[in-house]
Order: sequence, then C-alpha cells, then structure tokens
Amino acid sequence: MSSRRRFLQQLTLSAIAVPTLSAYPFAIPIQKTELDTDKPILKVALMGLGGYAERVAEAMQSCSRAKITGLISGTPEKLKTWGEKYQVPEGSRYNYENFDQIINNPEIDAVYIITPNALHHSQTIRVAKAGKHVICEKPMAINAKEGQEMLDACATAGVQLLVGYRMRFEPNTLKAVELREKGQLGKIKFFQGQTGFKIGDPNQWRVNKELAGGGSMMDIGIYSINGARYMVGEDPVWVTAQETKTDFETFKEGVDETIQFQLGFPSGAVASCLSTYNMNHLDRFYLVGENDFVEMQPSTGYGPVKGRTKNGPLNQPHTVHQTVQMDEMAQIILDGKKPILPVDGKVGLQDLKIIDAIYRSCKTGDRQELQLG
Ligand code: NAD
Repeated sequence: MSSRRRFLQQLTLSAIAVPTLSAYPFAIPIQKTELDTDKPILKVALMGLGGYAERVAEAMQSCSRAKITGLISGTPEKLKTWGEKYQVPEGSRYNYENFDQIINNPEIDAVYIITPNALHHSQTIRVAKAGKHVICEKPMAINAKEGQEMLDACATAGVQLLVGYRMRFEPNTLKAVELREKGQLGKIKFFQGQTGFKIGDPNQWRVNKELAGGGSMMDIGIYSINGARYMVGEDPVWVTAQETKTDFETFKEGVDETIQFQLGFPSGAVASCLSTYNMNHLDRFYLVGENDFVEMQPSTGYGPVKGRTKNGPLNQPHTVHQTVQMDEMAQIILDGKKPILPVDGKVGLQDLKIIDAIYRSCKTGDRQELQLG
C-alpha cells in the first residue's frame, strides 16, 4: 500500500468504524443503490485499475445516476476479476492498445482516466477522438501546454472534459464557500493551505519524473492550489515559490520534495501554502476574513472533512466523495447541470498554469505573473 493511500485512509479510519463492501474502509457505508431509472444514466468505463480506481468503483456502487459499463487495463487478470465483480461483459473490456474501439460501443458514454499523471494527455485525446466524454484525474496533465491540447481535442470532438476534483462537491467545503459568499467572513485577507504526506517507497511512479511529471506539487500540492481558488473565491494573479530538498535519492532532478508557495489575488488577499512528500499530518486549510475565519482540518482527505468558524463547527453531512462526484458529473454531462464550483477542463488547465509558474519561480527565484484566462 502506498503511503499516500495509507495517509488518506488514516483520516478515514480515525473517523467512524463502519461496514463496507470494499477492501478499503470508507467513512460512511457503501451500499448498493438502485439506479434512478426515470433519468438517463452515465455509462462509465474506468481506465487504469489501480488503487484510486478501486475506491471509485466501490463508491460508484452507491451512485444513482452513474454506473460502470466498461474497463480498460493492461492486466488481463484485472479485466477478468473486475469484469466479474462489476458485471462488465467481455465485449466492454479493453486494453491500452485497443481501447480506441470504444468508439463502436454504445454502452460507454464516458471514460474515467485514473492512470499515472503523464499518461492523461494522450489517453484523453484518444478517448475524445473515440467520441466519448472524459473524466480525468488530477493533475489533468503535467503542464499547461498538454492541458490546452486536451481542451482543444475535447472541443473539436464535441465531448466534455471534467477533472476529478472531488472536494468541489464536498458539503462542508461548499458550506465554507457559501459563508464566504454571503459575507459572513467579511473581506477575505489570507488563506493558508498545507497539504502533504510522507511518500514512502522510492520506486513508485509518483516519484518518477517520466510518469508523475514532477513530485509532491503534482499530486498533493495541487489540492492547496485548487483549494486556495475556491476558498478565496478568486483566481491568483501572481505566485512566488521556494523548493527545499533533503532526500536527493528519492527526489531526483525534476521531482519536488517540498515547495512553499505564495499567491496574490486581485482583491489584495494573499495565500501561503506548503506542498510536501516528506511530512505527515498536513491536511489543513485556513481562510481569514475581516470578521471571521474558516478552518478546515482535515481539508482534502477522503473524510470526514471537518470545518469550523468562530461560531463553532460546520455541520454538513459526511458523504462518500466519489459517489457524490460521479452522480454530480452524470448530471453535468447528461442534464447540463451547472455545479456550484466548476470542475471542467478549464479549471484543470488553470491549475496547470499555476503549477508551471511555481516550478519556474523555484528555478528563477522570481515572482511570476499569472494570466489564467
Ligand atoms: P496507482 O498506482 O494505484 O494506479 C495506477 C494504475 O495505472 C495502475 O493500475 C497501473 O497498472 C496503471 N498503469 C497504466 N499504465 C501505467 C504505466 N505506464 N505505469 C504505471 N502504471 C500504469 O495510482 P493511483 O493512486 O490510483 O493514481 C492514479 C491517478 O489518480 C493519478 O493521476 C492520481 O493523481 C489520481 N488520484 C486521485 C485521487 C483523488 O482523490 N482525486 C486519489 C488518488 C489518486
């Protein structure tokens, strides 16, 4: 088990002990839910049957608007066991060589790409060319140039591109956003985002530049970037960043261990964030306004996510993030629903522009101006 998965599960385990169908514990029970037969169902093929895909697959058993109808993997045994478990017929099981054939499969509306980061770009373009909607895990790609090409490919094909930003559907997070929008916090002055964990195994793809595209920033720092944007409610206009490296064996050239970065927003609000693969117990957002604050801790783990203001805790219900995300994404794709916080490819591309600028600032020591578009 990767340290990341262990870290995210610790957050869950420390919450509520509950029964589950999965090998992975959830904060609240996964129950097989009947699909909503009155409404169209999003038929989803999962690509990359690894750790996170397993969590998504189990969570999707509770979806009312989305179901697993296809599988894409390079491992024939996984296609067989997952196919039997989730009742995906052999004709809807593909490998990485032949998945373009989904173009002829009406049982697949969308592909959820859950593979190592550097593969997202080419896989998204192939899925788009096959005429299917794309749900892509974060980071959407490994740089903004690739991200733009993915947006262009999906636009040309007339398919939607969504990014697996599950926190953008999380109830306590949305409550914090609502409090800010209603003015309870007053003028927003400062955001602090701390996201990180100890990576462990130095041989995993997450510390391989070719597959990960970078290090902690690509994987966990992106939560602070994305969080800064939805918590402050603005897009940053500049960034400065500093990198620290203590373990040169695990974190080779181009693989960041720890980065601190600062963001400036048009209103004058500022953010100070930490992304690391070398410290545990970092999963905290802190938003300060002139009248009140919101602290989220844990802020991005699988849950329960907890928040409080000076008046006490936020009391929204705990949800299985991936269940809610997939039901919401089904409504975005099939019903044209506008989510409270967007999760489209444009948001993913903007995060990549910030990541590019963070890496540039680490190299040059200079403040980078941002034009997110
Ligand atoms: P993982 O290592 O557990 O699974 C990756 C899967 O991709 C494996 O099944 C592997 O066999 C497959 N794969 C296909 N081609 C590969 C190749 N060339 N090299 C290596 N593996 C290859 O990783 P994961 O934790 O499931 O992460 C997958 C993606 O999901 C990443 O982009 C990650 O950032 C994202 N993720 C998102 C969340 C979230 O909360 N949104 C959580 C975890 C992971």
